[in-house]
Amino acid sequence: MLRGPDPFEVLGISNGAGREEAEEAFRRLAKRHHPDAGGDRNRFEAISAAIDHIRRNVAAASAASHPNFQGGFEHAFTRVFESMHRASRRQEHVRAERLRVDREINLSLDEAHRGGSFRLDPKAILCSGCKGHGLVECSGPVACPGCGGAGAYRQGKGIVSVQTSCQDCSGTGAVTWAQCSACEGRGALDGRYGLVTVPRGVDTGFSISCPYRGGNRDLRVTVFVRNDHLRSRRGDDLFVDLTIPIWDAALGCDVPIAGLAGESLNLKIAAGTPSGKCLKAKGKGINRMDGGRGDLFVVLKVEIPDASSGPLQKAFRDLKSRFGS
Ligand SMILES: [Zn+2]
Ligand SMILES: [Zn+2]
Repeated sequence: MLRGPDPFEVLGISNGAGREEAEEAFRRLAKRHHPDAGGDRNRFEAISAAIDHIRRNVAAASAASHPNFQGGFEHAFTRVFESMHRASRRQEHVRAERLRVDREINLSLDEAHRGGSFRLDPKAILCSGCKGHGLVECSGPVACPGCGGAGAYRQGKGIVSVQTSCQDCSGTGAVTWAQCSACEGRGALDGRYGLVTVPRGVDTGFSISCPYRGGNRDLRVTVFVRNDHLRSRRGDDLFVDLTIPIWDAALGCDVPIAGLAGESLNLKIAAGTPSGKCLKAKGKGINRMDGGRGDLFVVLKVEIPDASSGPLQKAFRDLKSRFGS
């Protein structure tokens, strides 16, 4: 049973008039009553509500009889969901009565050394309204927002225009989902809710609770510290791989080393240092969470050149003839 005014009456058309006639009446009345054109706002809202009602009913009726509209919400939702290329979302864990949302933040060695505030990837903070899908289920079919309920678009102009079936509703004009209003379809919350503050020297596995607007929830963020291709962490000690040429290893040298967080160190390599030697710079490792610093270890690798030809071959042959046993 219809509640409120009869939409056909509001539009001044006979009950049971077709969609075309209703749209035509709406356009005519909207021009006259649009508030921007000096019309009455209440009257305009009434005719807008009336045409919306008729569009929904037409869409629902055509959806119910349309052969493509199979599987209902699940089908349409899954397809739209896939077409939106949503990344797979992390599991949410229920703990006691409260929902606990677990997230991970990935820090570089320098960031972990310094500590401070870091922003969680906003995409990693799921919207509780739609569980990250960006869409919510409606109680019944509604006009497809993609095509306004028409089931198709017209692309191009004049005789070259082409009618294209709407992908969002499989051409039925109706859908049983709507864009989530809590996140405006993004599936994730505002990034400003994802600021995580960690202590200096933080290491993988450290976890912390963060402010989260998702109501009955705890957002727990676990830190993951990544090594880079030349540096790795063991506890509070930092290991750096350093490759030097054979003559530097033989003659000895001073090598500048990039330490943590922009710190620069000068490493003295003694003459005759073999490959694999580990040199220690005390107190130059990663900050300890309880104060002080770990040590920095430089692991040397001596590069042996290819001396199979050219001047290098001659030089090595000379060395061999003079000093080889
Ligand atoms: Zn559509
Ligand atoms: Zn949402």
